[in-house]
Amino acid sequence: MKHYPVNVIDFQDMFPTEKACESYLTAVRWPEGFVCPRCMHTENWELGSSLLRCKKCRRDVSLTAGTIFQDSHLPLRLWFQALWYVVCQKQGVSALALKSILGLGSYETAWTQLHKLRRAMVRPGRDRLSGIVEVDEILVGGLHKGAKGRGTFKKALGLVAVEGKEENIGRIRLARIKNGSHAHIVHALKDMVEPGSSIRTDMWQGYAGLKGDGYRHIRIERTGGRDENLTPLVHRVASLLKRWLLNTHQGGVQHTHLPYYLDEFVFRFNRRTSRSRGLLFYRLVQNALAIDPVPASELVA
Ligand SMILES: [Zn+2]
Repeated sequence: MKHYPVNVIDFQDMFPTEKACESYLTAVRWPEGFVCPRCMHTENWELGSSLLRCKKCRRDVSLTAGTIFQDSHLPLRLWFQALWYVVCQKQGVSALALKSILGLGSYETAWTQLHKLRRAMVRPGRDRLSGIVEVDEILVGGLHKGAKGRGTFKKALGLVAVEGKEENIGRIRLARIKNGSHAHIVHALKDMVEPGSSIRTDMWQGYAGLKGDGYRHIRIERTGGRDENLTPLVHRVASLLKRWLLNTHQGGVQHTHLPYYLDEFVFRFNRRTSRSRGLLFYRLVQNALAIDPVPASELVA
């Protein structure tokens, strides 16, 4: 099987029907051929409409059960169109734009679809950053429900980690943190940076004692004025992130959903030099099949 389309003509040739999309998902889900999750038998019948039956134990296996496509009423063709559009648009796409491009019935449908795709932008068990990593907190604007239920703009706190290769930015990771305490910073860092790496920070007390958490620690003291930029790599990433939230999403991201927008930004940023959009499409499909379905309770626009 061809792994991924190289351009839009190719895309249309590869996925003209629901059946073609199902076959593709089957091939990505079981690259070595079907394996029954119960008895490991490798032969199956196709019962139609993305349902397979094991020839030995007769268990029925849904192609989309346990993936982000589970419980979706949208045809796979529409999902594939959305996936393709999301990877081809380097700056991403808003729910409003996706609704009009795909001709979806409602804003909520587009928003939910994008939200599910964001979950697929984090590969399960992905690598952590390593080497020299610059870390700092930033404030990210977000829509926060006020006490009276009115939307007010309030900043959320984020933690940015950037692999520094001399002056150049390598891979990044972002996380939302509750506050700048040592406990919250370290909790997020352990998910982002490999132990043994060198972490470069300013003198903020939240970073004190990082050595005890298994990291080498380079603390940069202020020698210039108040405008001195101690974490230049983080600041460059932060300004790109803020511009992206403002331009693509009009800044209207709720605090509770912010972590997933951060995931999308990381996905795009770390692949900014990738020339093969088709490969990104393939990776997203792989992840979409590997991660758990998103609970409906988390999908409130
Ligand atoms: Zn079986």
